[in-house]
Amino acid sequence: MAPTDDLMERVVNLCKRRGFVFPSSEIYGGFRSTYDYGPLGSLMLRNVRDAWWRSMVQLRDDVVGIDAAILSSPKIWEASGHVATFTDPLVDCRKCHERWREDQIEGVCPNCGSTDLTEARAFNLMFKTYVGPVEADSNVAYLRPETAQGMFVNFLNVLQTSRKKPPFGIAQVGKSFRNEITPGNFVFRTREFEQMEMEYFVPPGDGPKWFEYWCEERMNWYTGLGVPPEMLRLRHHETDELSHYSSGTADIEYAFPWGWGELEGIAQRTDFDLRQHAEHSGEKLEYFDQATGERYVPHVVEPAAGATRAMMIFLLSSYQEDTVGGEARTVLRLHPRLAPFKVAVLPLSKKEPLVELSRSVLGRLQPYLQCDYDETQSIGRRYRRQDEIGTPLAITVDFDSLEDSAVTIRDRDTTEQSRVPIEDLTHEVFRRLGL
Ligand code: ATP
Repeated sequence: MAPTDDLMERVVNLCKRRGFVFPSSEIYGGFRSTYDYGPLGSLMLRNVRDAWWRSMVQLRDDVVGIDAAILSSPKIWEASGHVATFTDPLVDCRKCHERWREDQIEGVCPNCGSTDLTEARAFNLMFKTYVGPVEADSNVAYLRPETAQGMFVNFLNVLQTSRKKPPFGIAQVGKSFRNEITPGNFVFRTREFEQMEMEYFVPPGDGPKWFEYWCEERMNWYTGLGVPPEMLRLRHHETDELSHYSSGTADIEYAFPWGWGELEGIAQRTDFDLRQHAEHSGEKLEYFDQATGERYVPHVVEPAAGATRAMMIFLLSSYQEDTVGGEARTVLRLHPRLAPFKVAVLPLSKKEPLVELSRSVLGRLQPYLQCDYDETQSIGRRYRRQDEIGTPLAITVDFDSLEDSAVTIRDRDTTEQSRVPIEDLTHEVFRRLGL
């Protein structure tokens, strides 16, 4: 196992070397802490989203999904409080002119050490743009800084079309944008990132009960996907830390190489958002219970996670260096659901008819699973490569396969190999992946 201090560096290097994450605009020297997800990273990020969606929507009958627009009426952000209060306190260093978040520097410029700083000014984190050809105030719009408002403003649409009643949730995965002052730590904090959020609407009074429930569910999601429980903790916010809309918040934090950091926030948003939008839009955003004749504004519990941040911790917590048969290897012990490739098909030789048989083995699995196919270099090097990118199973097709119609399956974690008839392969692969 790599020592913690250079774990980050090793993971960042692996991401670059193997095509998980590249610095964006690299041929132009990069662009301000933005990143592009490469062939393996885009697969893995999709797996993170899918694993979240599976747990939050597919396996439940009380949560439905939406996919709202990134651009929307600026009135949404006035009602939500983001125009007025989604700000960070900013100070300038009068000596070196660097700009900092006041709450992160304790009165000393981290660049030059000067204490000659300006008064803090509120800096709004929303990206502003203009819709249409005229750059006038009446055409201002914001890139959404969170996906949550999409759920609140569609509350009635969803209620009427999905026939759900509280307690029920609306989930969404998508990009959000914040003009962060201090992005950094790889993809931990970026200005463009991806969120996975769910608004769970409950009868007033039931907020605390569902808050407890979702704290537990969400912790289990991370541990169920292989994050060691001792790397996670649930931290309840102090009253003075709470957002303007929240009556109780807990963060799921991860032990990052630089210390504990937020992975996901679970907040009791009360009826704040629905009431704000009702007031600003003039629409009644309520639930009417036909059975009891009761009418109320639901309260909301929100688990809000970052997909890109989650991907980073899945990489950090699965990275290992060990020795196999006297040889050092790097291995990503990723949960099969998250691994970019589930299976690699490796013909022992590039010669026919081995390649033809290997391609037919690949053809059996590809309709169901993302597979890799690799026929170059020695088999040992190909195993190492698959270990390093986290592929749980490697299937080797050798000359015996031509005779006995069987192949060898090698397990990434144990490196054990066993022979399986090609006829049973699909079934056996699914059994071993546990998907
Ligand atoms: P922080 O305190 O780290 O700025 P936050 O409390 O403002 O985060 P939320 O608004 O609760 O974050 O957003 C929910 C989740 O979205 C966070 O837990 C995180 O996983 C993700 N997230 C928020 N901001 C960023 C960002 N700039 N880059 C990557 N992920 C982010």
